[in-house]
Amino acid sequence: MPILFTDMKIVKTIQEMQALSEDLRKEKRIGFVPTMGYLHKGHLSLVKKARELGDIVVVSIFVNPIQFGPTEDLSKYPRDFQKDATLLEEEKTDIIFSPDSKEVYPEGYSTYIQVKELENYLCGQSRTGHFTGVATVVAKLFHIVKPHFAVFGQKDYQQLRIIEKMVKDLNMDIEIVPYPTVREKDGLAMSSRNTYLNPAEREKALLIYASIKKVEELFKKGQRKASTLRDEAMKVLRSKDGVDIEYVSICNPDTLIEVDQVKNKALLAIACRVGKTRLIDNIILMEA
Ligand code: AMP
Repeated sequence: MPILFTDMKIVKTIQEMQALSEDLRKEKRIGFVPTMGYLHKGHLSLVKKARELGDIVVVSIFVNPIQFGPTEDLSKYPRDFQKDATLLEEEKTDIIFSPDSKEVYPEGYSTYIQVKELENYLCGQSRTGHFTGVATVVAKLFHIVKPHFAVFGQKDYQQLRIIEKMVKDLNMDIEIVPYPTVREKDGLAMSSRNTYLNPAEREKALLIYASIKKVEELFKKGQRKASTLRDEAMKVLRSKDGVDIEYVSICNPDTLIEVDQVKNKALLAIACRVGKTRLIDNIILMEA
């Protein structure tokens, strides 16, 4: 039986959302958190941030089909709308925007946004078209929700950079607010996809954070050579069977281009497959 939410509005159509936002933004500052649902504490921290900075908080729940490749997990992506809505009401969310696929991509839909260059690196190498799907849906959501600012997690660092670049290049009048990665007590970055991991896989997934900590430790001790830092991360990741490394990159945090030597700061970004689950994590290495 659907639960009724007293103070929170659930909006399914673009027309209703646009009309609501048009009205609200005259006097209120609208903060927006786009998500694909199956919310965890990472998402909820973004919502808290939006609550702190804005008058009205809109959260979208939309599993965006065009950002999934043909062999990816679109059909089995975890969903639990009632639970998400309960959590969002606890965070004093004002509006959930959760359109269905046809509402967002009606028949004949044909416009896409490609942020060149940045999409070529890191996850873009294996997930062809993924970031075009992300940029397109976020641009659409920005036009629908009309926020003054939107909060994005640094957990998906490349996504954050691509959105920042899109906003800059297209002169969108929206502030992008980055939020640090929220982790489980043992260091694993929270992700809706962690639910795919069985206990043995979850144990192995901890090597990702262990490798990050190792690199951080070496960096603090003065190691600046990217190949050495990368090799050390790989050594940790390979210390148990079952972690397939897709990439370990040490790159410029703005351009995402690999560096040979870390000067001032760099992004350490990792993508691995543990069993069938693809996991990503990253950290900024910065001179003290
Ligand atoms: P998703 O539902 O995976 O599309 O994520 C929605 C938003 O939540 C994105 O801005 C993500 O970067 C952010 N997010 C996901 N996991 C975390 C996390 N562990 N810590 C902080 N933000 C996160």
